[in-house]
Amino acid sequence: MEVKKGIPVSPGVAIAPAVVLDAEEYRITQRTASPDEVPHEQEHVDLALVAARNEVEELRDRTSEHFGRETAAIFDFHLGVLNSESFRQKLLDSVEKNSYTAAYAVSQIMHEYQRRFLDMREPVFNDRVKDVYDIEKRLLRHLLGHIREDLLHLSEPVVVIAHDLTPSQTAQLDRSKVLGFVTDAGGLTSHTAILARSVGIPAVVGLNDITSTVSGGDLVIIDGTKGLVICKPTEETLEEYEETGERLIEFGHELDELRDLPAETLDGERVELLGNIEFPHEVTTCLNRGAEGIGLYRTEFLYLRGETEPTEADHYEAYRDAIEALGGRPIVIRTLDLGADKYAQALGEDPERERNPFLGLRSIRLCLANVDIFKAQLRAILRASVLGHVSIMFPLISKVMELRQAKWLLAEAMEDLDEEGIEYRKDIRVGIMVETPSAVAMSGTLAREVDFFSIGTNDLIQYTLAVDRANERVAPLYTGADPAVIRFVRDVIHRAKRQGVDCSLCGEMAGDPMFTPLLLGLGLRKFSMAPTDIPEIKQIIRRVTTNQTQKLARRVLRMESDREIYNCLRDEMLRILPEAM
Ligand code: PEP
Ligand code: MG
Repeated sequence: MEVKKGIPVSPGVAIAPAVVLDAEEYRITQRTASPDEVPHEQEHVDLALVAARNEVEELRDRTSEHFGRETAAIFDFHLGVLNSESFRQKLLDSVEKNSYTAAYAVSQIMHEYQRRFLDMREPVFNDRVKDVYDIEKRLLRHLLGHIREDLLHLSEPVVVIAHDLTPSQTAQLDRSKVLGFVTDAGGLTSHTAILARSVGIPAVVGLNDITSTVSGGDLVIIDGTKGLVICKPTEETLEEYEETGERLIEFGHELDELRDLPAETLDGERVELLGNIEFPHEVTTCLNRGAEGIGLYRTEFLYLRGETEPTEADHYEAYRDAIEALGGRPIVIRTLDLGADKYAQALGEDPERERNPFLGLRSIRLCLANVDIFKAQLRAILRASVLGHVSIMFPLISKVMELRQAKWLLAEAMEDLDEEGIEYRKDIRVGIMVETPSAVAMSGTLAREVDFFSIGTNDLIQYTLAVDRANERVAPLYTGADPAVIRFVRDVIHRAKRQGVDCSLCGEMAGDPMFTPLLLGLGLRKFSMAPTDIPEIKQIIRRVTTNQTQKLARRVLRMESDREIYNCLRDEMLRILPEAM
């Protein structure tokens, strides 16, 4: 039995045999071969080398014919590696000494080469990493091409062990077959993690090297609550976890009973609990869990699911479905927040061009640079606004001028609809995500130009602390319990209140029970979160008094370190909700 600890991002227990995907989503079914299979595996190495060499030679000749010898020289490095006797020998030795399968030996050795090139200081060597990657892909295609993993067509329940999963891959996981997943990469609020929670799949991320620890077919337990991954568990551990799984389901049912009770503190202070969705069909899950509406609709998932760019009609239909399912309850439709870890291939954007994706052309910036796409969405939201209680929200506003530009385009879209005689709500409420430190600093000014704020702590934490939210290597630095973050949240809530602007919080912090008493104490009365989190948050709200939360907030605001704050909030939560243990 081997136990590994990672970042818990989606609670629950999953127990099933593993499917292991490497960085290129190739499924390395087996790491080791039996001794009598070793010569066979070595033969596979040779065959793959010959096939890859022939392919690259053909590619080089064709390129030379069309673009000249100089351009074709880019393949010299590939051929140099594939023809190298020492490279071949290294692969054969690795198979022989470790009893590795050919595919596993290729992936191990190519990763070692990539690391070595990355460590070299000269940029020219760094660039070689991509070539090594390319060679690896080519060889694996010959070795495993026929079993390149397709997560859409699994026949048995599995847990997926992957180097990384993109948000769109996560969105497409078949919930009936994929019981849980674990990744080498990722952070607490990466969009892959957010989706896992919203789909309700137990998940642990940021394990660094889990893909080389687990072999395909190994029995694995994922403890998404504690962030543990247990490979080849003992009988005793297995039994324990089967029981824990059942207890968690029971706890979930107990919380379900809260659905129709109000989110109200012991002294009668009313709080609004809303759901975050990525797809219209999630509205029903939110309502079943007790949401009073949708506080954040991440519309960019319309792009991440399909192969083609959504049309105005596609946008409209998705919004109509969500609004109709809500039966008059409110919905905040956020305009496209593409880019960063939600790649915008659909917009023809090349993720490779973004050296600092979270600081690059993402979100509202991408929309203001692609006005036609933005306008199509604005028109669809406006048209859908007559069907229900719709608000529109702009993400990642970092400058007042950005908001003005977005509002100006909205006014243009309204004029166009007027000219075409198409109905929409002229008084549609307009708000922004407050998720950059500059927006916090300017929140007094911004408040004069909007109807509401929604605090996006997922991004606000990363930009305030300069910590990439999706990077496992800096994950311990990423925390909402940091005093700087808490001061920012307090400032936004206070300024919004002073200026009569509605304020909610829709980052993952809203669904983390540890933060509920503090946020109440800071004056927050509107929370938007993944539907799975709603009952537990409601339970906490129903067990506290305003006075108690205000005292806690004052105490926390005197603290200077995230550790101290974390311990204080955790102790308080466990006092209020001991069942959460
Ligand atoms: C946030 O940043 O807190 C947020 C809710 O938006 P997203 O996670 O989609 O960036
Ligand atoms: Mg955000």
